[in-house]
Amino acid sequence: MTPALVTRFAPSPTGELHLGNVRTALFNWLLARRDGGRFILRIEDTDLERSRAEHLAQLLEDLRWLGLDWDEGPEVGGPAAPYEQSGRGPLYTAALARLEAAGRIYPCYCSPLELELSRKAQAAAGRPPRYAGTCRELDAAQRAAHQAAGRRPTLRFRVPAGRELVFEDLVHGHQLFRSDDIGDFVVRRADGGAAFFFSNALDDSLMGVSVVLRGEDHLSNTPRQLLLLEALELPAPRYGHLALLVDAHGAPLSKREGAVSVRELRAQGYLPAALLNLLFRLGHSSPLQGLLDRPALARGFDTAHLGRAAARLDPVQLAGWQKEAVQALSPQAAADWLAPVLPAGLDPTVRAAFVAAVRANVVLPADAALWSAVVFGEPPPPDAAARAVLQEAGPEFFAAAAAASLQHDRDWSALAAAVKSATGRKGPALFKPLRCALTGLDHGPELAPLLRLMPEGRVHERLSRHAR
Ligand code: GLU
Ligand code: ZN
Repeated sequence: MTPALVTRFAPSPTGELHLGNVRTALFNWLLARRDGGRFILRIEDTDLERSRAEHLAQLLEDLRWLGLDWDEGPEVGGPAAPYEQSGRGPLYTAALARLEAAGRIYPCYCSPLELELSRKAQAAAGRPPRYAGTCRELDAAQRAAHQAAGRRPTLRFRVPAGRELVFEDLVHGHQLFRSDDIGDFVVRRADGGAAFFFSNALDDSLMGVSVVLRGEDHLSNTPRQLLLLEALELPAPRYGHLALLVDAHGAPLSKREGAVSVRELRAQGYLPAALLNLLFRLGHSSPLQGLLDRPALARGFDTAHLGRAAARLDPVQLAGWQKEAVQALSPQAAADWLAPVLPAGLDPTVRAAFVAAVRANVVLPADAALWSAVVFGEPPPPDAAARAVLQEAGPEFFAAAAAASLQHDRDWSALAAAVKSATGRKGPALFKPLRCALTGLDHGPELAPLLRLMPEGRVHERLSRHAR
């Protein structure tokens, strides 16, 4: 029996979940779901200063909204609990004690300033900056002197000399690092907290994680983490480092290009299916076309199709997937989705008819808000294009149209036919001015269903405005 595949997502709750993180979460989730494995959520909150309870709450909420459920993690529990690193201190202490007993770590008393000066000196000499090994061979008396001077040490891992570290990255293929290029690195900070390299690698192993898909920025951390796990005689996962997600200009994701956090996108009305389908195809090539649900995304996910080139997040593609996701909503789900921008207390039948009438023209609820104003309230004043159309048609046209609307209130085809015979206009010369007067815009959804939903007399009132 092959052991179950176990993946994880290990965010730090120091800010809002953005699309880059979500893609990492999604790929790990898809891999686990495809192979009947387990997906773990681990919270890397060792940075107590920057980690916030409200970020954590939002993170869990965002993942649930996206449908990325976890088999082990916060609020769910599991055999490797706790899943917040802030609660795993005793496990870190125990592992550090083992490294200590094996002579693999030592206290470093260098101050941040001393380390900075050393880095600069190495850079000036044209060498890659790494820890110079200052405290590697301190004897007991020297350590005691530092302690007596009130210095609080970090603990560093003693990187063995002359080793070649090789591993197969699931995305980047064969990797070779030389231990001589890696300085002794910190495993416990001066404040006693576990450092990232250490807690991250240890927890992956303790939690039985078998595959780690994570950002490319962690590729060079991997040899350090492999050394640590080797020293602890613990199994290491396989790693795949995902190409970065960049904006349309190739720059790192930022707010400049519009919302990139899940919370903001959700607030604007983007749907989970739109985000998931977009992210599925960013840095992961797939022959599968069209909007896929989560099980289909899982069946179609393949680590062999993960790309090495930076993946561009294109707002146009996002809008395209959103449009598909809107079309795929059930009538009830579409009505619920648009409810916040519709008048309160709207009759459910009217609401359903309205949603059916405008849905094809709606990407975000804000678009439906416009059509809601047109039908149930007051449309915005005509824009420039509409004004030109209104002017060209002229007051006589609208006088005839207003007169016809007294007979044919809310009946678009009868109204259009009557105006046609009264004015002799047809085609766009007939329809466009009517549309502009009724909606303030020269384009939009089919008018017949919209007119049927308008209050009595409203059609006449709008057409009359342009009759003088
Ligand atoms: N907390 C780390 C991060 O958010 C996890 C990195 C990893 O996935 O190993 O970057
Ligand atoms: Zn030192």
